[in-house]
Amino acid sequence: MKPFEYRAVHSVEEAVSVLAEYGSDARILAGGTDLLIELRKQNVKTPKVVIDISFIKELRGIESPNGTVMLQSLTTHSEIVNSKVVQQYASLLTGAASVIGSPQIRNKGTVGGNIMNAATCADTVPPLIALGAKITLKSKTNSRQIDLSDLFIKPYQTKAKPEEILTEIQFPKLSSNVKSSFIKLGRRNALSISRLSVAAILTQDKNGKITDARIVPGAALPVWRRVTEAEILLIGKKPSKELFTAAGQKVSEVMISHTGRRWSTEYKEPVIATLVRRALEMCVGDLKDLKDLKDLKD
Ligand SMILES: Cc1cc2nc3c(=O)[nH]c(=O)nc-3n(C[C@H](O)[C@H](O)[C@H](O)COP(=O)(O)OP(=O)(O)OC[C@H]3O[C@@H](n4cnc5c(N)ncnc54)[C@H](O)[C@@H]3O)c2cc1C
Repeated sequence: MKPFEYRAVHSVEEAVSVLAEYGSDARILAGGTDLLIELRKQNVKTPKVVIDISFIKELRGIESPNGTVMLQSLTTHSEIVNSKVVQQYASLLTGAASVIGSPQIRNKGTVGGNIMNAATCADTVPPLIALGAKITLKSKTNSRQIDLSDLFIKPYQTKAKPEEILTEIQFPKLSSNVKSSFIKLGRRNALSISRLSVAAILTQDKNGKITDARIVPGAALPVWRRVTEAEILLIGKKPSKELFTAAGQKVSEVMISHTGRRWSTEYKEPVIATLVRRALEMCVGDLKDLKDLKDLKD
């Protein structure tokens, strides 16, 4: 690792002031679980300054104001897993955070770092996009809120400006009649990054008909998005294996239309379709046991 200046800051105001001074010569350090690995690589541009934001108290915590859930950007994955608010109003995010890395990684890694690193396998992003999350980006002169789904340009690249810091993530609470799920498939059961994942949210009316559906695959598309082409197949219908299979096949088709056919397609095409079906089955309670995901691993 090449030398760089280290600056510990204690407020957002201080952070944005240093960012304004250094611009693209600065890098933000939150939990460091992605950044420190990146800085050790040979071919990476070494920043002039690394700004350690981990001491900023105002960037910690989970609140639930006015029908929403608000996560400050330094909220760790462990804090998300243990949050009663997230368990009650966004259980798919609890599920996603609980399968990130190991206990050590979950204790250090933050939701802000997971988002801003923008790796396609980032596990909190599909649930947050399914939840309709908005994020706040602050600089010395400006504060703006954007849809999380509008943040990403391509893997590892976001539309955030070099002088901006992500401060908070906010999304509407899911009501108790709305069901959600998150499934991740890795190469092994523990300490495994996602090869593919799916976040799903389903709302049914009192007759069991689906009135709203949200499906966001992870590590499948160049940038995350809701696959509305599959969601609309579900609206107005009652859950069935055939219906959920059709939705899964549609997600698979959409994935291939974006990525083209490549060496991994033979594996990903059937597997993403099956994961989507199973995520939807989990929402309606037909699939509680994920042990049978093992047969999808290579
Ligand atoms: C062994 C191991 C296993 C892992 N397993 C998983 C896994 O299963 N699933 C998964 O999704 N990830 C996994 N990760 C990746 C990593 O732990 C997560 O992405 C984590 O959430 C990153 O958060 P951080 O706070 O450590 O980010 P950092 O490393 O501090 O920062 C990551 C990037 O985000 C930027 N950044 C951080 N915070 C902000 C902010 N507030 N505003 C602007 N920019 C910011 C940094 O400048 C940097 O570019 C794993 C990592 C390791 C080392």
